[in-house]
Amino acid sequence: MEKILQEAILHGQKYTHNGNPASYIPELQKVNSSDLGVYIRTLDGKEYGVGSYQQKFTIQSISKVLVLTLALMDNGFDKVFGKVGVEATGDPFNSIVRLELKHLQKPLNPMINAGAIATTSLILGKGGNEQIERILDFAKLVSDNPHISINEDVYHSEVQTGDRNRSLAYFMKSTGVIEEDVESLIQVYFKQCSIEMNCQDLARIGALYSNNGICLKTGKEIIPKSICRTVMAIMTTCGLYDASGEFAVNVGIPAKSGVGGGILAAVPNKIGIGVYGPALDDKGNSIGGIEILSYLSDVLDLSIF
Ligand code: GLN
Repeated sequence: MEKILQEAILHGQKYTHNGNPASYIPELQKVNSSDLGVYIRTLDGKEYGVGSYQQKFTIQSISKVLVLTLALMDNGFDKVFGKVGVEATGDPFNSIVRLELKHLQKPLNPMINAGAIATTSLILGKGGNEQIERILDFAKLVSDNPHISINEDVYHSEVQTGDRNRSLAYFMKSTGVIEEDVESLIQVYFKQCSIEMNCQDLARIGALYSNNGICLKTGKEIIPKSICRTVMAIMTTCGLYDASGEFAVNVGIPAKSGVGGGILAAVPNKIGIGVYGPALDDKGNSIGGIEILSYLSDVLDLSIF
């Protein structure tokens, strides 16, 4: 397996020079843009890592997977999908245009920023501090890593430059999708995006979803199966924003990207994969990361289709 992962990294390296780290959150530029890492966890408990798999990065939009899961566990399907839809948009992740369409009345899905902010508003807790504590605790639980924390520098960078996200949240407040205090909510969203992990953490999370929410170590249910299946379906249709169709065709694995350069991938009943490569394409997805997953999907026959 290590040899296959080495080859996947060599394949990915051919593409990293075509992209750049995210610049709209200035702190995210402080990376080595040619870094690439991959980590795999199989459902029989074997783990393999190659390249910069120990390098920490902020999970950014990958947090939307965890927050959707927790929101569903907190509130059930009807309440969550009463606030946010499950349809792909074909629009960039930070788009605002469709929020004004009267017939929709809610953001199209929980993987775009608008839908994610609405989902975060459903996390139970007395105020923003308790909400982010619960999200962080959940991140520690699903990654089986009690040391997961928030990168304060990235968080402050998001606070300083997050006016697009504020505008999404205020717009949704005006239409009634968001009912709580926008300033407190948006801080929770910036903090969840600033949670730091490495490829190993992502692979372990992926393996948990692949295993229908049953902990591989203890055999205990951490996430109900119906929620795992729903979240993996939404990852498949919306996880790479307006590149989700292309990714489904070329790779065919439920996955979620973030502008920190990570991608979380869960091959149902097989393996969890974490990849990292901070050079992004123009849609905000890791160029090298997509190529690594495409290579692994071909060689290990991982497409779900
Ligand atoms: N924090 C980022 C933002 O809100 C997350 C976006 C992403 O990873 N695509 O813009």
